[in-house]
Amino acid sequence: MIALPAPKAEVLADRERIIAGLRALLPEDAVIAEPHELRAYETDGLTAYRQAPLAVVLRGSTTEVAAVLRFCNERGVRVIPRGAGTSLAGGALPLADAVVIGLMRMNRILEINTEDRYARVEAGVTNLAITEAVKDLGFFYAPDPSSQLACMIGGNIAMNSGGAHCLKYGVTANNVLGLTCVTLEGEVLELGGAHFDAAGYDWLGLLIGSEGQLVVVTEVMVRLIPSAEGARAMLAAFRSNEIAGACVAEIIASGIIPVALEFMDRPAIHACEAFAHAGYPLDAEAMLIIEVEGSPEEQEAELAAIAEICRRFDPISLKVAQTPEESAAIWKGRKGAFGAIGRISPDYLCMDGTIPTSRLAEVLARIGEMSRHYGLEVANIFHAGDGNLHPLIMFDANDPDSQRRAEAFGADILKLCVEVGGCLTGEHGVGVEKRDLMPVQFTATELAQQRRIKSAFDPRWLLNPAKVFPLEDPAREAA
Ligand SMILES: Cc1cc2nc3c(=O)[nH]c(=O)nc-3n(C[C@H](O)[C@H](O)[C@H](O)COP(=O)(O)OP(=O)(O)OC[C@H]3O[C@@H](n4cnc5c(N)ncnc54)[C@H](O)[C@@H]3O)c2cc1C
Repeated sequence: MIALPAPKAEVLADRERIIAGLRALLPEDAVIAEPHELRAYETDGLTAYRQAPLAVVLRGSTTEVAAVLRFCNERGVRVIPRGAGTSLAGGALPLADAVVIGLMRMNRILEINTEDRYARVEAGVTNLAITEAVKDLGFFYAPDPSSQLACMIGGNIAMNSGGAHCLKYGVTANNVLGLTCVTLEGEVLELGGAHFDAAGYDWLGLLIGSEGQLVVVTEVMVRLIPSAEGARAMLAAFRSNEIAGACVAEIIASGIIPVALEFMDRPAIHACEAFAHAGYPLDAEAMLIIEVEGSPEEQEAELAAIAEICRRFDPISLKVAQTPEESAAIWKGRKGAFGAIGRISPDYLCMDGTIPTSRLAEVLARIGEMSRHYGLEVANIFHAGDGNLHPLIMFDANDPDSQRRAEAFGADILKLCVEVGGCLTGEHGVGVEKRDLMPVQFTATELAQQRRIKSAFDPRWLLNPAKVFPLEDPAREAA
């Protein structure tokens, strides 16, 4: 179980005055403080952990966000920024003495400029809404988390989110041009703009992926990409994880860059097929979904080259979609994967380590050994093209021993990712989930340096504390 810092007694004692102060600052319906209403905010996508906050404020503009941050900073009140609350790393988990600042009402698309290929949107706009707004103009916003219907661009910025189609176009950091954000002191920063390579420090590089630790993002300028003429998917099924893993490494090494290259192992194939009836091969040990895009001729040439590579690995079956409907059928099971696992297990932990693709087969074999050791089922679904693993560990949160084993299993997987030359998180972020594993990835000196950056923005550690950095670390006191 994860440890949270003790609530500040003076803040809890001052609760009524803090709520009254927030109500005086903001419109009537902006402050939520009734216990039954706060329950909706007590957890995020990492539902194993729950904690109701002191209050929630739902903000409508950069000016209001700045006023709330200034108010909380002056009173030493902790603040948790929140988008849609889909974080799988517990990034938006509240603390008992914290004010949650919800950005979901900041959901306007402010500007679309196809000539300079950008859109300016508020932080509470959902990921999918951006593409929906520009698709008839022949453009899209590339990063596509599976949660894109719900998750918001501010949360995507905080977690540097990715998705199945990021192999070709990159993750959030590669698709954002500018940010408007607010510091804890209530100062507004305008960073970047309608162009790449802003002058001065690489602020976007620092803030994208900073997990709500440094600033609250209120507006985002995203890059728009012209839509491809079309896309087609294929499905390749293999006799073992090792063979499928070797095939992935060969496709990547060949220089072909599909838009997506997804891997599912046997438990994942069975769970997804039972859920979505997508026609997946139940006799396979592993399966790849590969998608290419471009003109019909380009699609045909790339699919032929990829099929040729797959054939060298003696596939059980190869199926190339001939129509958009067949492509959609191939994707249907993968897109419903988390729901599919939810049907067969009361709870699951979704790990998110990244490894060099050449180590895929070996890592999957070791995850299998760990599954036997801990006595817990695991289904492997992941973005294989960029080595981003998503082992889904099934457990029962009502059974403390099962939860303890699941957490230890997850930690072992992430340590293995670092051991083979990878990292703790590909796209879900550190949050509370991986916080205590940071010393596996970083030296004490590196962590101390990162803490100094946090302290430069937030000297009293009021903004989203208890996330990202291990709680009990002497270097913290020294920072
Ligand atoms: C079913 C499912 C599938 C998923 N698939 C993917 C996937 O394919 N790829 C992927 O990368 N992730 C995936 N996720 C994880 C999650 O959707 C992403 O991390 C997403 O970016 C979180 O966005 P959100 O709006 O829900 O943010 P929240 O969960 O509300 O917050 C996430 C973090 O961002 C901070 N934050 C939120 N808004 C702001 C802001 N405006 N300013 C500063 N900090 C802020 C919070 O404090 C927190 O630390 C999935 C989650 C689920 C439940």
